[in-house]
Amino acid sequence: MATPEAPGEAAPGRVHLVGAGPGDPGLMTARSLELIARADTILYDRLIPDAALDGARADAELLFVGKMSHPPGGDSVPQEQTLRLMIERALLGREVVRLKGGDPFVFGRGGEEALALREAGIEFDVVPGVTAAVAASAYAGIPVTQRGLATGVALVTGHEDPGKPGSEIDWGALARFPGTLVFYMGVRSLPAIAAALIAAGRDGEEPAALVERGTHADQRTVLATLATLAQAAEREAVRAPAIAIVGRVAGLARELSWRERPPLAGRTIAVTRPRAQASELAARLRELGATVVQTPAIRTRALPGEPIDPTRYDLVCLASPNAVEHLFARLDDGVHPRGDARSLAGARIAAIGPATARALAKRGIVADVIPERAVAESLAQALAAVPARRTLVARAREARDVLPDALRARGVEVDVLALYETVPEPLPARLAALARDADYVTFTSSSTVRHLLAALGEADAGGSAAGSPLSARTRIASIGPVTSATLREHGLEPHVEAQRHDIDGLVAALLEDAAARSGAEDG
Ligand code: SAH
Repeated sequence: MATPEAPGEAAPGRVHLVGAGPGDPGLMTARSLELIARADTILYDRLIPDAALDGARADAELLFVGKMSHPPGGDSVPQEQTLRLMIERALLGREVVRLKGGDPFVFGRGGEEALALREAGIEFDVVPGVTAAVAASAYAGIPVTQRGLATGVALVTGHEDPGKPGSEIDWGALARFPGTLVFYMGVRSLPAIAAALIAAGRDGEEPAALVERGTHADQRTVLATLATLAQAAEREAVRAPAIAIVGRVAGLARELSWRERPPLAGRTIAVTRPRAQASELAARLRELGATVVQTPAIRTRALPGEPIDPTRYDLVCLASPNAVEHLFARLDDGVHPRGDARSLAGARIAAIGPATARALAKRGIVADVIPERAVAESLAQALAAVPARRTLVARAREARDVLPDALRARGVEVDVLALYETVPEPLPARLAALARDADYVTFTSSSTVRHLLAALGEADAGGSAAGSPLSARTRIASIGPVTSATLREHGLEPHVEAQRHDIDGLVAALLEDAAARSGAEDG
């Protein structure tokens, strides 16, 4: 019988042909996210949402098999090689996700891949995705069908050169088609497509639209007529990916467009928080339209320790949201329940900042002291007038001693409880390339500075890039003066420093800087 120890004999894995939708991560299906989170191997294309792989396992094998050079320096992968990789991995018994933009069976070569899998005797299933034609139109305020205006919609490939002999496209039939035409196309093909349609008898006055980067935060729509669309696209410098919509429904965009350009649209921001915490900042930035690259770089690891008895303290200071989580894990690790929030009932509770206070609130505890600025110095100050005899400071192993020192200086007995440490997490080359080239890289603590720079250095080790770890145009955003000082120690001058040293403050500072810069760019 085949055993896991004999991988050559393992039962073949399954391949999931999965659509990742058109770009907005919110349009990924629940099923796609579930499979991505589970996969051993993910073969992904260029046009998947930036956040599509955030939920992949840290140890999953992520293989870029797109047709164009991306990430920068990456290679295009021929289709045969993609098929071979996919089949090989499945034969090793791996669970494989083949992740494609939009829908896998709409101009995604999903059909070809399914045939090859069938031929190789490998089981597969198909997870449809929201296809670009439908999604980009909807986000542009264009219903692809509409009573009285369009009784059908045709999805057409426009990558083919219409002039080429033996073209598979029947332009006459498309010209007569009584409904909306949506072309999946390279922008360069647009003049030839429009000319071929008009030559075949379609009305040049018919409304038409181009949607660039549909459903992404920086989506753009250009409205024109079939006859003038190519010109308009050139004037507006429309770039791929884009779809062209030809049909009376295109005119509805003037009335139905509903999507405002959010303030951080078009900005790529790298977030270097530890994996578990990244989501809050990342989610906020995405809501504001930014393309977020999550570069975990570090994660926290609980330190082993003796059970603690919080009832011995009259003041308990929590130095980070992580400290809250790890403190409660110490009180009840799920195996040896030793206590809960009630064991803190007798103590005053101090949180270093609002995020820590929120973590406490989730546990049913309202912090008694929160300093104005989320740094140890401010907390020490805020505690100066708070009576205390025995204090517990719960924090990371590598934290500074400002707070315990200040408390001890006034005669308070202080136990420092190092609950966790931050450890580096290797940065995949794809993320390293994206981070290095981002518009902003955010740093939310000194350890994110050290770890991200170390990870970028390591990702570089095999490559050619030397000198500065970030591109010259990348702006560095720091959560506060302590993090900024660490940046300077590493030869990096922050361009943006938050006035309030928490996520809200950092987001506000980024918004301000982005607004000032787009003003400057426009002017
Ligand atoms: N399987 C994909 C299509 C792949 S073909 C789907 O179902 O959507 C690639 C073409 O799709 C691009 O050249 C472009 O014309 C179109 N496309 C993909 N994503 C797009 C987007 N976000 N906005 C506009 N067009 C897009």
